[in-house]
Amino acid sequence: SMVSRSSFTILLTGAKGVGKTHILRQFLLPATHVDTGYSFDDDQDSSVTILLDGEESTLEFVDRCDRPAEQVGLCSSTVHLQTGDIAACDQLDAYVVVYSVEDRKSFATAMQRLREIRSEEGRPVAVILVANKTDLVRRRVVPEIDGKTAAKEYDCKYIEVSAAIDHKIDELLVGILKQIRLIRQVG
Ligand code: GDP
Repeated sequence: SMVSRSSFTILLTGAKGVGKTHILRQFLLPATHVDTGYSFDDDQDSSVTILLDGEESTLEFVDRCDRPAEQVGLCSSTVHLQTGDIAACDQLDAYVVVYSVEDRKSFATAMQRLREIRSEEGRPVAVILVANKTDLVRRRVVPEIDGKTAAKEYDCKYIEVSAAIDHKIDELLVGILKQIRLIRQVG
């Protein structure tokens, strides 16, 4: 049967230490994806192929400042997002903005990213706000309501995850693809 294919580029951004590397690592772990139809591309280290609703999509994650500018367009760890020309990099299909629930400063950084994306990104684009480290219940300082309110304000999807205990990571991965497809339909 015919399976249509598509490929998307996603920027993983947020303050240092919020867990971007751990989230990406969980995305790329083939073992967790066995039942849900993911496969791991071993020729590229940051992409994962997902079969969802009969359509195969490859998600390529970029989160490193050492990627060539022409490939990414801007930098993720991204103080550079301010100086980078977001409008010029129309190869990005989604922004995943991560903060840690035990780090209020990282939430402020995430808000800054959302402002930059929404003010500088001209096209309709999928944006997902991710609250990570929800396993650290007692050290939590950013309540769920703050994340939800911000997501509403910046018109993005909100999800709480824990990369450390692999909680909601698959939901996040599928959620990113669903958001991308949704935006492409309406945009
Ligand atoms: P990055 O700088 O955003 O890429 O952050 P890393 O993925 O390197 O994670 C920074 C630190 O936070 C590391 O010590 C991780 O072990 C820890 N970390 C990442 N995700 C979680 C999580 O969900 N829960 C907990 N408790 N620690 C985490």
